[in-house]
Order: sequence, then structure tokens, then C-alpha cells
Amino acid sequence: MDDLESLFEQVNGYLKDNPEPVRRCSRCKDVKPESCFYKRSPGCRGKLSARCKSCDIECNNARRWMERHPRAAVLYSRNYQKANPEKIAAAVAARKAESLKRTPVWADKEAIKEFYEAARRRSKETGVPHEVDHVIPLQGDLVSGLHVQNNLRVVPAVVNQHKHNFFNV
Ligand SMILES: [Zn+2]
Repeated sequence: MDDLESLFEQVNGYLKDNPEPVRRCSRCKDVKPESCFYKRSPGCRGKLSARCKSCDIECNNARRWMERHPRAAVLYSRNYQKANPEKIAAAVAARKAESLKRTPVWADKEAIKEFYEAARRRSKETGVPHEVDHVIPLQGDLVSGLHVQNNLRVVPAVVNQHKHNFFNV
């Protein structure tokens, strides 16, 4: 009996010291135990979904709704794009960097998103369109930069369009 009790204590102590690993949901931003996340199918990057189960369910419901109401969905996404240009720009850049394999695992995605928000703010404040620029271009002639926070800066869009993939080494 004593043995069982001490084992019980040991297990409890272990659980206290090693609570279930937690994970931050990319959608609701809550920190939840990993059991609140669905497992990804094998072959996908990462073992667990980036969104918690309840967010995953909400997203799936939204997707199903969009499939059933395609016209409304087009209007909705058009409005969303108009209202959130910095999110679209960030997503496009992320996809491009991903396809070029220029996003290392240590890239701080939130910090990167902030550059796109800053570009939008600056455009609004100055009335001059601003963009996020890769200091070292992702596809340079001699060197290729990374899609990471410390390779980004906000510049007027004209500067960015003139630069192309040129970088002084
Ligand atoms: Zn969530």
C-alpha cells in the first residue's frame, strides 16, 4: 500500500513538474495544451495544427459555408482583401519566400507581419504608398536573402520597384 502511495506521489510530482506541453493558437492566440490541437496528417510540416481544435472547427464551418454560398464568398473575400491589404501582402510575400525556400524555421512570423502592418500605416500617414523591402533580395544575382525580420524594412513603393533584385555586395 505504501509503495502504491509513494508511486502515486511520484507520478503527481512528475506531472506537476512536467505539465502537458502547450502551444499558441495562430488564430485565437490563446495558449492551450497540445491536446487542444488536432494532429496533422503525416507528410505535413509540423505534427500539430497551427489552430486549436475550436478554431479549426470554426474555420471548417466557414469554409463549408463558403462552398455553399460561392457568390457571397467572393464578395466577402473581396471586402476582406480591401480591408486588410497588409495581411494579403504579408501572405503573398510569405508564399513567395516559402516557394523560394527562403524562410528559415527561426523566422519570427509575428515580427514579419508587423513590417507589413507598418508599411500600411506609413502609406496611410504619408499618403505615399510604402512596401516591405527585403534588404538582401530573396533572389539576388550574387547573394540571396532570407524572409526574416532582420532582412526587412519599410520603404516607399517606388524605391522597391526600382531596386528589383539588385543588391550591392
Ligand atoms: Zn484558437
